[in-house]
Amino acid sequence: MNKERLDVVMGIISQMERRFDKTTTKKLQLEKWRRVANKLNFFGKECEECRQQFTVLENHLNQLNSGGNIVEPSKIKEYTIKLKSLLSHLEKKHKVISDGYYLSIYMSIGMSFGVVFGLTLFDNIALGIPIGFSVGLAIGAGLDADAKKKGLVI
Ligand SMILES: [Zn+2]
Repeated sequence: MNKERLDVVMGIISQMERRFDKTTTKKLQLEKWRRVANKLNFFGKECEECRQQFTVLENHLNQLNSGGNIVEPSKIKEYTIKLKSLLSHLEKKHKVISDGYYLSIYMSIGMSFGVVFGLTLFDNIALGIPIGFSVGLAIGAGLDADAKKKGLVI
């Protein structure tokens, strides 16, 4: 995909970051829009749908940018939903994940195993939970680091 379009999108986002106050910027998750744009541009080299989604993203951002300096709560909600739908293609098709995704999953899996092992192996649930928790933590952190290396963390 062409780099100029990505630059334009990044320019629009920076412009909005300067224009909106901090709370609005945060609520609109402008930083996340930036990362989504980057990923769509990256995967768009091989994925037709990413190219289409990038155009959708451009339209959304232009629309948002053409509004006033104050963004209504209902608009913020609307753009959160729009952002989610852009993300869902990246997550489903390209296995892109949020930072700490595996950590949270494996920590709860580890805890449940900990309860089971605590009850069966050690006959002590209080001993099983921290062991399960640490194992889950180690596995989750490892998988997160691996995903980061592959550029799959958004
Ligand atoms: Zn795609």
